[in-house]
Amino acid sequence: MKMCTLKKSIALNGIGLHTGMDIAVKISPSKTGKIQFLREGVLIDAVYSNVISTNFAVTLGKNGKTISTIEHLLSAFHMLGIDSAVIEVNGPEIPILDGSAKPFVDALLSAGIEKINKTRKYFTITKPIEITMEDKYLLFLPSNKFEINYTISFDHPLLDKRSEELVIDRESFINNISPARTFTFLSVVNKLKADGLIKGGSFDNAIVLDDNGVVNGELRMENECLRHKMLDFIGDIFLLGMPIKARVIAYKAGHTLDVKAVKTLKYYNNFKKEKIPAVAGLSYLHNYLQK
Ligand SMILES: [Zn+2]
Repeated sequence: MKMCTLKKSIALNGIGLHTGMDIAVKISPSKTGKIQFLREGVLIDAVYSNVISTNFAVTLGKNGKTISTIEHLLSAFHMLGIDSAVIEVNGPEIPILDGSAKPFVDALLSAGIEKINKTRKYFTITKPIEITMEDKYLLFLPSNKFEINYTISFDHPLLDKRSEELVIDRESFINNISPARTFTFLSVVNKLKADGLIKGGSFDNAIVLDDNGVVNGELRMENECLRHKMLDFIGDIFLLGMPIKARVIAYKAGHTLDVKAVKTLKYYNNFKKEKIPAVAGLSYLHNYLQK
């Protein structure tokens, strides 16, 4: 299967969640086979090795230039099958828009998608691999599809221990995952605002929860918060530099664990180099030492 890019450039603009700046984004076709951000003349590939932070959002950096909150856009690229594009940004983060990936999906589909003369590769799993962090884990199993079984567990009536399993393809992503908005707690919002953070945060770009439920309107779908965690994961895992085919069991995962998983999977892929990866999960090391 050939890689794809956009048929034409598109422009988007909106508020940055963390800076509150009005930020303009131009997404253009390319033939490199890479997703690349362009900030003040510096091209930053959307791959795990350029990740410099996973606090609140995923931030890429190179030569002193950074670009944050890339995960919702990457999620849209991943599932629309867009392998190659340049995203020029005039600020340090991608606009939050409505807190979901839907506005990106709509814009990318309106531009149209076409093939380039490069072959698409998928990241596949040959043996089970588990990445853990405290009580959280990600387990990757072989599959010829992309399937996610995700469990969240928060001390909240809407986010108590609940799970969902979905086959993630283009249609299911567009309809069931891309509209799911990010979520936060009113107590957290108040604290972050007091600390001068999330300057662009508002009731228009996140589901805001108090102890009882949603304080700003209705959910777009049942399990919207859980679906947003899947959306984030789909974006983060695209930092492999290619789409993935795997069955993924996720328990309380998030950006930090997602990126740790990408690094571990890459090391695992380089297994023949006979190096034990520093970031590998315990069971991975156990398996390695059994060989
Ligand atoms: Zn998110």
